[in-house]
Amino acid sequence: MSNVWDDVEPRVYESRIKVPYTWQAGETASNFLLSLKNDKKFVGKKCDKCAKVLVPPRKSCPYCFAETGDWQDVSDEGVVETFTIVRRDTGIMPMKPPYAYAVIKLDGADTGLVHLLGEVDLGEVRAGLRVKAVFDEERTGKLLDVKYFKPV
Ligand SMILES: [Zn+2]
Repeated sequence: MSNVWDDVEPRVYESRIKVPYTWQAGETASNFLLSLKNDKKFVGKKCDKCAKVLVPPRKSCPYCFAETGDWQDVSDEGVVETFTIVRRDTGIMPMKPPYAYAVIKLDGADTGLVHLLGEVDLGEVRAGLRVKAVFDEERTGKLLDVKYFKPV
């Protein structure tokens, strides 16, 4: 007995789908984002057990799993811990390639924040580079209220 697919060469069709979505940021992330919007200030949560200051803040500590406690202000300056150069346009970022993405540890924080680098020669980007946040004049309560971090 023959199968209807015996005479058909299988093909793979490549495509893309767009799936817009929204979600409730929650109390911890909302407080962080509102601090960026209203005060141009970074805040973190301090773990009561291991004393690490988490930025972006977390409701529970990823190191010891304890619930985090007090809010703590941290600097808008910090150090690039690692980075990558983006060379392909995904169409979703405010910058056109090439640009740099970095993990930035703000002064006073124990964890890194992922963000864009701007006003920088990409050949000069390195771990240890000191950078400072550049805030957008029109802020709406999202991480891109910080346009990018630039070298200081
Ligand atoms: Zn902890």
